[in-house]
Amino acid sequence: MSESDNYPEHLSREELRNRLEGVKERISKVVSLSSIRIICVTKGFPVATVESMRELEVYDFGENYQQELSSKAANLEDVRWHFIGTIQRSKLKKIAEVSSAIHSLSRVSEIRDLARLKYQGEVFLQVRSDEEVGRNGFRLQELEEGVDTSRNLGLNLVGLMGIASITSGYRAPEFFRLVRDLCDRYGLKRCSMGMSDDFDVALANGATDLRLGRVLLGPRPTLRSYN
Ligand SMILES: *Cc1c(COP(=O)(O)O)cnc(C)c1O
Repeated sequence: MSESDNYPEHLSREELRNRLEGVKERISKVVSLSSIRIICVTKGFPVATVESMRELEVYDFGENYQQELSSKAANLEDVRWHFIGTIQRSKLKKIAEVSSAIHSLSRVSEIRDLARLKYQGEVFLQVRSDEEVGRNGFRLQELEEGVDTSRNLGLNLVGLMGIASITSGYRAPEFFRLVRDLCDRYGLKRCSMGMSDDFDVALANGATDLRLGRVLLGPRPTLRSYN
């Protein structure tokens, strides 16, 4: 028995519906539901999972790996794909071709590449706290250059993305507050933060785009070998 046999391919429609309703209820307790975009993170899940969620009127989906993204996007056209994973320069063109939004830009060179591709989708810059090593993202002192370069080159810069981390010098509420403050400082409307385990905290601190996987879909199947 392979490891993925431990999980059903995906949860029943009924269970997916219940989970989505539960998440919406939790959001409504903090902010108006209409101000929040739920991005359903489907990495590791089959196309059938995306189709089931779409039937529940979820149209925004997040993916971390270019090949998995491209393969799913080829099967489904009337949804919006959000790229949220580590960017490999050689794959940026293919990512740009199918993504409505890219959340994880972490270097000025990636911004330049994207501008050269005349990318018209939404662009987010990923931010990391200065204490964090080994995570992607602009350090705080590099962020202004990232913002200016994106704007000067005509990209549709809409927001920042932050991933809270226990290794960060900041605790999640402080880090989320920091990312929100940076959004406000640079006049950016969208704030992509909050995952299954911390989205309530992110919401309370000004998130607009939640990236939710397991809380909606259940345990993630072992990642397929797309990459
Ligand atoms: C996988 C992933 C998510 C979703 O994580 P869950 O804990 O399953 O909600 C969100 N954001 C990023 C950047 C991810 O890589």
